[in-house]
Amino acid sequence: MSKIYIDPGHNASGGDTGAVGFGLKEQDITVQIGVILRDLLVRNGQTVKMSREKITDTVSESLSGSLASRYNSANSWNADLFVSIHCNSANTKAYGCETYYYAGSVNGERLAKAVQKHLAEDTGRTDRGVKTANFAVIKHANMPAILVETAFIDNYDDNKFLASESGRKSVATAIYKGICDYLGIKYNLAEGDDELLSKEYDELKIKNDAQDAIINVMGDEIGQNANDIRKINIRLRRYDYIDSNMPEWAVPTITKLVTKGYLKGDSEGKLGLTEDLMRLYVVNDRAGAYGE
Ligand SMILES: [Zn+2]
Repeated sequence: MSKIYIDPGHNASGGDTGAVGFGLKEQDITVQIGVILRDLLVRNGQTVKMSREKITDTVSESLSGSLASRYNSANSWNADLFVSIHCNSANTKAYGCETYYYAGSVNGERLAKAVQKHLAEDTGRTDRGVKTANFAVIKHANMPAILVETAFIDNYDDNKFLASESGRKSVATAIYKGICDYLGIKYNLAEGDDELLSKEYDELKIKNDAQDAIINVMGDEIGQNANDIRKINIRLRRYDYIDSNMPEWAVPTITKLVTKGYLKGDSEGKLGLTEDLMRLYVVNDRAGAYGE
């Protein structure tokens, strides 16, 4: 079990409010993502502390106080990991996700890479990679620390993504998976996701079983048909040459009948014997019907 400090960036009011885009406020989005992330981690047995749990929360009215309060809180709590959540903002043209760590922090880099991997793979945001920066919160946190720029709030597409519940959930889940990878633990997905997965599995299994049944019946039929064809072929087969296609058990009798002149082939010398007929000759031969 690990102690994970989640820091939803910025405040509801004061000197450290966040970026705004299309009416959406960074300080609200960060809390909404942070709460989903907290629930995922807690459900997986981790201990979580947050700098802000409600969008109305303000850590401190001043910028410096706001930043110091976050890393001081994580440090005094002896957190194992520090995860700060933000939304980016630039010129409305930039888009995508990126994760920062403090230069020189080996484990910070490892955590950043683990999280960024899932952000890039799972959220559909463009991968801007892992970067270093001197942000106060990751610089002064005593534990491996990252700052996640989830997407650009002032970019139209990224903004729509952040505004959607499914978008925020996918970001939280990606960060969660990255943390789990870093810690070397299983994801243990949310109950809802598990239910969905098992429902999907059940439906697929029913479909698959039904198809299997059809394939099995068809397979049996094909096997039966092949068997019938084989039997018919055997019955229809004509044995023409004593030395080539004839079964071994018939060879002595048929040789004797040909030698004695009891059996003659057609103009080409073909005997045209069926298996049934050969069987009859052999039985008669063993009964002494054709002499020595
Ligand atoms: Zn921010």
